Amino acid sequence: MIQKQGYVPTEREQAFLGGIEDPKYVREIINGLAPFFDERAPADMLNFYSPDEIVQLRVLKGSERDVESRMPVKITRHYYELARHSAAIQRIVKASPDETRDLAGSEDPGFQMDYSPVEGLLHKYEMGLMYVVSTCSAHCRFCYREELIARKEIKRQDGTVAKKGLAQIPEITAYIRAHNEAVARNGGVHPESGREKLREILLSGGDPMVLNNAKLGAWLAALAESDVESIRIGTKEMAFYPQRFDAPFLAMLDRFHETYPQVGLHMMVHFEHPDEFLAKDPDGHYIEDAQGFKQWVPATGKAMRDLVSRGWLTVENQAPIIKGINDDPDALRILQREIKRAGAENHYFFCGRDIVAYRAFNVPIETAWNVLNESQKGLSGVETHARLSITHYKGKTEVNAVTSRPIPGLAGSENGVVIFKILRNAGRASDRGKVCIVGRNPEALWFDGYDDRVLFDEAGLYDYTRVRKPGLAPVSTGGCAAAGIPA
Ligand code: SF4
Repeated sequence: MIQKQGYVPTEREQAFLGGIEDPKYVREIINGLAPFFDERAPADMLNFYSPDEIVQLRVLKGSERDVESRMPVKITRHYYELARHSAAIQRIVKASPDETRDLAGSEDPGFQMDYSPVEGLLHKYEMGLMYVVSTCSAHCRFCYREELIARKEIKRQDGTVAKKGLAQIPEITAYIRAHNEAVARNGGVHPESGREKLREILLSGGDPMVLNNAKLGAWLAALAESDVESIRIGTKEMAFYPQRFDAPFLAMLDRFHETYPQVGLHMMVHFEHPDEFLAKDPDGHYIEDAQGFKQWVPATGKAMRDLVSRGWLTVENQAPIIKGINDDPDALRILQREIKRAGAENHYFFCGRDIVAYRAFNVPIETAWNVLNESQKGLSGVETHARLSITHYKGKTEVNAVTSRPIPGLAGSENGVVIFKILRNAGRASDRGKVCIVGRNPEALWFDGYDDRVLFDEAGLYDYTRVRKPGLAPVSTGGCAAAGIPA
């Protein structure tokens, strides 16, 4: 049991926090559809929605199919300027009446709350994920965290219903210390959950970069003082408002590194499509210099350069493959090539999750694999580090291969197979490397699309277990509603 207690920063922390500067940012955010309905948005932005779209979206307002109740609408001026010349970007942030046509999906994708021992923390692996804020500078329609950002009430395993809460420094640091002390006392493994030291934390939300530097710095220092070895900041701010990566922010990072040089720092950026960072000419073509190098949007290029030039942190891109946005091998090829050329890393691409209304956004699993595979043809080895991941309830799982020929002697493989491979699972990742082979179903959007064609399952994806209470080891619930899409 973690005792609730106040948090007292150490002298080292206070010295670090004392030097942080907090400028005001003018993101020129348009919040919601009302400014478009009432024509209060800036005049040059009003045509972002056509009159027909406005009528259709207005009709849905207040109904079960209200698009804003599912996922709040938000856009920055910077992103709007990019969206004007990009159908892909428009699809990322423009609300569409189609997105609430089919509201099937999970209110808690992957039963994340099963792994929440403290409000605002998901602790599944040696890494913990924290919700530190519940909004972003703009909002993606396909967001995996629509339940957090729309502040929806979630039913938890114990039957209680509540909004997902945000992490607080006193509770989180007390939990990390208690967990890691128990692990150390027990020879490197937690006596109840079987997990190792909680040594890595991902600051997430929402987007931590909407917090001011003082708040971000407070999180970084408090985690460093709790002996966290590595901190990730998950952000799409470099796409929405790259000016946020300014001198005071970089100075805060530099001071953090000087104060806590032993702590690794990783910026997990989120670019879906090269239109989010490449400059275009008036005809919509990417601008190239005399040698044929594509030119970045100046503010975005500067933000990226300023981060990657700090050799003690890494910048990693990860993004889902979403219908009508980046299910396009050519776009993904340019994206991976440019990210690597800029000095950042291509980390993961994801299959869309089973969020509410997922059918409006997700491409079939096999299509996503094909798109990524095609996009990597012609790329070099260092440009093709990204794998296609799909988040099973058990943990991160790679869509490793899709074949198109039968496997001789294997009934059910007549149209080829899909091979899933577990990358991470709760506790000590005991199932890492195990595979599950299913017969193909080109329509499958989620694991349940293969329920009737499992051929081999040493990974246990189709005999999953659900944890009894947050922080404890999984127990078998039997059944096979993989990753829990409600009927
Ligand atoms: S930036 Fe990330 S968390 Fe924010 S709306 Fe987009 S997908 Fe969701």
